Amino acid sequence: MINAIKELSFQTVFDAAADAMLLADGSGRIVWINDAAQRLLGYQKSELIGLALEMLVTPRYRKQYRYYQKLFLNKPARRALNAGIELIALNCEGKELLLDISLSPIKVKQQVYILMIFSAAKRRLDAEEALRASEERLRLAKQAADLGIFDYDFKSNIVYLDEQMRKLWGKQSEKTVSYDEFVAAIHPEDRAARQTAIEKAMDPASTGEFKAQYRIINPSNGSERWISARGRVYFEDGYPNRLIGITRDITEQKKSQKKLQVQRGETENILKQQVAVRTASAIAHELNQPLAAISAYSEVVLHALNSDNFSATNLKRALEGCVEQTQRAGRSLHELLAFLQKGELVTERANLNDVIHEALNIVYDDGYGRFHPVLYLEQNLPDVQCNRIQIQKVLINLFRNAVEAMRTMDLPILTIITKLQTINGKDFAMVVVQDSGPGLDPTVAKRIFEPFFTTKPSGIGMGLAISRALIEANGGQLWLDANAITGAKFHFTLPAIS
Ligand code: ADP
Repeated sequence: MINAIKELSFQTVFDAAADAMLLADGSGRIVWINDAAQRLLGYQKSELIGLALEMLVTPRYRKQYRYYQKLFLNKPARRALNAGIELIALNCEGKELLLDISLSPIKVKQQVYILMIFSAAKRRLDAEEALRASEERLRLAKQAADLGIFDYDFKSNIVYLDEQMRKLWGKQSEKTVSYDEFVAAIHPEDRAARQTAIEKAMDPASTGEFKAQYRIINPSNGSERWISARGRVYFEDGYPNRLIGITRDITEQKKSQKKLQVQRGETENILKQQVAVRTASAIAHELNQPLAAISAYSEVVLHALNSDNFSATNLKRALEGCVEQTQRAGRSLHELLAFLQKGELVTERANLNDVIHEALNIVYDDGYGRFHPVLYLEQNLPDVQCNRIQIQKVLINLFRNAVEAMRTMDLPILTIITKLQTINGKDFAMVVVQDSGPGLDPTVAKRIFEPFFTTKPSGIGMGLAISRALIEANGGQLWLDANAITGAKFHFTLPAIS
């Protein structure tokens, strides 16, 4: 037995060991490594022998390693495995390995050698790697979301800033700043609101949630950025301890909000102008007819006064016409204004047949008299609920348009057919006004309800737009029958009273 030990060479024992072993000389150069060490590190023996041991150590720990090597060589003593000595080595692929090591000094002829036995401390390295990976993930997520992190310790009054925060605050080289320094970068106008938000979050009765938006002025270049900050105050024994949170640069968002606001303001102005123009046009539309009639009556009066023989009866009739038209204009304006101001619609029970007759009379009186009205009325027509004057206005507009259209043709007689019937059971009454004029070209037909659309030299183009709005305000609909065989055929409905 003793003989066998004597015959066993150091190298045989060394190579047979299951654990990784390495022998270095007093200057730290590798003298020998065993097969297990070769397998663990992945290098060829020839690559390692003669190499300084520190070359196996991860570069960032080499300085530290040199220090410990010196300490060990000054006072060589055995250190067992799992005694907490660790080393981060690089394998042949450059991967870091955390090793548990044992150290044993061996003295041979005044020379000190170090025997190092090591094994991979796998579990801890995995945990470190997982931590590094999660830190990396957090870093990438922060970068992608442009987030900064801050940690304000109330007791020390110090704020920790991460890289992104340091950039924004212009404090590239300081990881922590005093709270006063931190606040100094905040725009003076935004400090009070932000402070109130912090105080609210510091109230132990609150959820501790902190939310604020403020501007910061970078002290290094004077640039101004908008920041959105969110965080939570943490309490210790019921007292606020620290505020940890994230910030996001929302300068671009604020800029586009501002742009949108300006645009909205401009659009509102344009709309207001359009409403003003439409209102003026609607008024002009309402006054056009009575003014023309008043002018015509006044000319008759003047003419009569200039001639020697004038009849007092004719004069009286013309002046009565003037009065009547003036009053009508007043009533129209009053109605129109009420409608434009969206005042409450005053409706009444009305017999549509009567309303149609009234409208026809007004059109005759306006000098549109030379046409032939044909009326088709359904038996037992129900009354409708409507604003009488407004429906009159719609009918007058339809009759006038019909006459004007027919006058462009050389017709011996101008006929307007008006039909009155019920639809949808008896829920609605429908009025159809059809002329014998040229009808409408499809491209014109598409646009006739648009405000200001007109094909007439002195037209305003508001009649049909106003008519449709009036019918809709009265609960019905107004449309053009695009398939009419002769002339133009308009329909409108009104709710019937059962
Ligand atoms: P305006 O009479 O001032 O032109 P309207 O809104 O009442 O305004 O009419 C718009 C346009 O619709 C008219 O210019 C005309 O081209 C067309 N239109 C309306 N009624 C008729 C009709 N009965 N026959 C042919 N075209 C019509």
